[in-house]
Amino acid sequence: MTLDVALNSINPPLPGSDIGTWMPSGGFLRLIETLPAQLCVIGTDGRFRYVNSTFAASTGWPQARIAGHTVAEVLGVAAARDFEAHGRRALTGETASFDGWVTDRTGHRRFLRRIAAPHLAAEGGKIDAYSMLIIDCTQDRTAEAALHLSEAVKTAAINNARDAIIAIDDQGIVIDYNPAAAHLFGYPRDQAIGRPIADLIIPPELRHNHALGLSRAVARERGHTLHRRLETQGLRADGSRVPVEVTLADVMVGERRLFIANLRDISESQFSTDQQTAMAYHDPVTGLGNRALLMRVVGEALTRRDPVLLVNIHIDRFSSIRSSFGHAFADDLLIGMAGRLAGDVLPGDHLVRIGDHVLALLLHGYRDDPMVLRRLDAIADILRSVVTPSGASVFLSASTGIVAATPQHETPEDLLRDAEIATSRARETGGSRVVWFDPSMHARVIDQVRTEHDLRHSLDLGVGLWVAYQPIVELVTERLAGFEALVRWNHPERGQIPPVHFVPIAEETGLVVTLGRWVLGVACRQLAHWQALRPPGMSDLFMSINLSPRQLDEPGFVDSVRAVIAETGIDPKCLKLELTESAVMRRPEDSIVILRELKSLGVSLSIDDFGTGYSSLSYLHKFPLDSIKVDRSFISALHLSEENRSIVRIIVDLARLLGFDVIAEGIESESDANLLRALACDYGQGYHYSRPQPPDQMERVLRGRAPWQR
Ligand code: C2E
Ligand code: MG
Ligand code: MG
Repeated sequence: MTLDVALNSINPPLPGSDIGTWMPSGGFLRLIETLPAQLCVIGTDGRFRYVNSTFAASTGWPQARIAGHTVAEVLGVAAARDFEAHGRRALTGETASFDGWVTDRTGHRRFLRRIAAPHLAAEGGKIDAYSMLIIDCTQDRTAEAALHLSEAVKTAAINNARDAIIAIDDQGIVIDYNPAAAHLFGYPRDQAIGRPIADLIIPPELRHNHALGLSRAVARERGHTLHRRLETQGLRADGSRVPVEVTLADVMVGERRLFIANLRDISESQFSTDQQTAMAYHDPVTGLGNRALLMRVVGEALTRRDPVLLVNIHIDRFSSIRSSFGHAFADDLLIGMAGRLAGDVLPGDHLVRIGDHVLALLLHGYRDDPMVLRRLDAIADILRSVVTPSGASVFLSASTGIVAATPQHETPEDLLRDAEIATSRARETGGSRVVWFDPSMHARVIDQVRTEHDLRHSLDLGVGLWVAYQPIVELVTERLAGFEALVRWNHPERGQIPPVHFVPIAEETGLVVTLGRWVLGVACRQLAHWQALRPPGMSDLFMSINLSPRQLDEPGFVDSVRAVIAETGIDPKCLKLELTESAVMRRPEDSIVILRELKSLGVSLSIDDFGTGYSSLSYLHKFPLDSIKVDRSFISALHLSEENRSIVRIIVDLARLLGFDVIAEGIESESDANLLRALACDYGQGYHYSRPQPPDQMERVLRGRAPWQR
């Protein structure tokens, strides 16, 4: 039932009836009485004929008293004017609806919908009254307003957002696009809407992934990217790329599911990340790249299977430069060197500093050795005349290892390891040279690691290691003068391992300090025992013990020698410590200090393998030495030529001049012994007299007659 029909179906007023007689009746009356809207009927005379209870309540009048009063009397003149204006339209036969804000009698603003409909009199169809239905819509109106407001706020937020906001449908078609998106990507809104987002802002190489991501988001499949932050690249209208952070959310708009992408331009934060990255990848002293950069670049090259060569350049003697001239000078030197070297690096190649005095050069695409060697010559030239920023010039050299990347190099560390192995080979062979890596070096390193491990184990458990003794004889009388203690290692699986194999490894790892201390203790105890066994009339025997350069560097070394002497009760002058030429010439000034300290204990000192190193005469006479031991290589060559004999003669004369005894090692024949006697050499040792022996066999020599004297 429409409102018009409803209103007209109210019982028409009886002809000639007064106001009070017109009344709706029955069920219909109950309906309109409980209506939450106001309803009234007003006659052409402007007086109320009927009001429902809701209407009466709004006026404050008792319902029964309103009929017969004018609108102005009940509602006041101002409200009546507005009311009657609508009523007049109804009296012309029109059903009219009016919406508007009205101030009620309590002073509240109310939004009213008023509908005025004419009443037709029974006879002649004349209009004699009108009904007014008044619905209070204030609440709905406020909610609607709030809705409008929140829409407005949202729109403003979207339009003013710093982030680009793009709504797409499940096919990836742009549905909406905010001004920030237009600004970021360079397409105006109207050009963007309706187009696939992939064509618009996704770089071609990422389109496949984008399509996959969208289909996952649509299906909410595993790995979908909804509500997650992603960093990717966006494509601008001008073809340039922009790093963006993207968050994707989905919303239901009616039946439709839309996807809202928030895209934030992160070029600035990337810039600061780039700066951090730059710091993380650079060496602060030289400004070159660092090890981390090398690892990254090598990693990329290995992934691409690029033909690369890694050159590891170890600057020789740099630690002595640092300790002798100080850190500031050493750093200056590095800066000067890096500047010159960097100027020589070709585009695409990388020069980095990976250790205090270790540089690495990654060369791309080189395969033919002459080309590489030419580049390395250029580096060596630069090192030969490094000038610090403050103008000091220094001659440097480098031990260089090179390795070419192969499929066996799975990680950058693999490649660097091999370059370092080649470098240590270059260093072992005297430095200032270039060594190419070869896979057999690997086996050697593995052997070294194993040897070190096993040796440590043997030392810890005190098994497998023992000391052999080789007699040293007075050449003129051929009587026993002393012994040289030579360490032996009986490996549980590998059998006898010669000291030339394991001593250098122990030296490199520092284990030689423990090993040397052990040998010193064992040999001194042995000497004490043998001194006591000596037949009456036999002069003092001495014990020669080999020292490694590492032992000299050990802070408590002199004290440990003093303690062994005290513990075993040997006469210190019977203890002879042997040092190689190269060991004392490493840092001659330091050596003088430590040798004097040792000398102050009363022990004897000897230079071993004399003639193989580079003894400086100026130092030789400053060292508090007692003897020199001529290297075996000279002795074995004695019988070959007069020239060789002259060399030994000169060494013996020199030793005499400096007041040292001379010992010849490696005497293998009677003729060697005779020649050395003729050259006035004091002592000798060698297979001709005896091989190094276990202590019990040596004891037999001691108790009886020496076999060489029979
Ligand atoms: P070294 O001190 O020059 O010892 C002499 C080496 O020559 C010994 O080799 C000895 O066995 C060998 N030899 C002796 N007479 C002859 C001979 O007539 N002909 C030949 N061909 N060789 C002879 P070994 O025992 O193998 O020791 C080698 C090196 O190992 C030693 O050379 C020494 O430098 C080192 N070494 C041995 N024991 C120790 C130790 O306890 N501590 C340290 N630091 N080094 C040790
Ligand atoms: Mg020796
Ligand atoms: Mg020797």
